[in-house]
Amino acid sequence: MCPILGTCGLASAFLAGRLHPTPAFNSGFFCNEHPAVLGESLHLLFCKISSLTASVLTVLHLLQQNNEAYCASGVHKPLPLGVAKRLVVLTCMDSRIIPEALLGLKLGDAEIIRNGGGRVTEDVIRSCIICQDMLECDTILCIHHTDCGGQHAVFHPAALAEHVKAKAQELLGLGPGGINMQPIYPGMLEESVREDVSKLRAESRIKASTSLFGLVLDTASGRLKEVCKG
Ligand SMILES: [Zn+2]
Repeated sequence: MCPILGTCGLASAFLAGRLHPTPAFNSGFFCNEHPAVLGESLHLLFCKISSLTASVLTVLHLLQQNNEAYCASGVHKPLPLGVAKRLVVLTCMDSRIIPEALLGLKLGDAEIIRNGGGRVTEDVIRSCIICQDMLECDTILCIHHTDCGGQHAVFHPAALAEHVKAKAQELLGLGPGGINMQPIYPGMLEESVREDVSKLRAESRIKASTSLFGLVLDTASGRLKEVCKG
């Protein structure tokens, strides 16, 4: 028995099957019949783990530095709970979209709800009801956009459905059909906006007095086009 086995949590994890050595580290592990290989393997392994940990910490450290700079800039102000423009913006999570910049909004002006595609889901409806009933919002913009990942993923809707089911089952332990991905089909961007605005309008918990607008964003130019009113 290797003397390290009794004290090294990493070795125990390997033995318990919770960690899997990569090809670079898979020979001579924890075997005192080959002490030289063991030493080399352990050295490489811990270098690798240290490197990965360091890179994660570096990213976090940089983000924390950014946050410090943001706080020091004076841009962020304490504000009371509320939505100055009584506006809700529902849009895609795409990294190329900054809703506040597109619409000239400032801190405290609007509630921003984002998900894949900017689709209306049960949780979006829940958030809209909170905005409407508790924060006095009276306008909802639903913004879909060109070159959306939700379009790329659905070149073949049936294939996507099967892929998503398998992936969900694999990652989340859900049964087939556990997630409705609400894909946006190629060439049907305006239809998907109309569909979502109609879905909100048909929702009995959204007040008739709440104004609904559907728009499409040209991701390349940043220009918005109005598609429909609810
Ligand atoms: Zn998108």
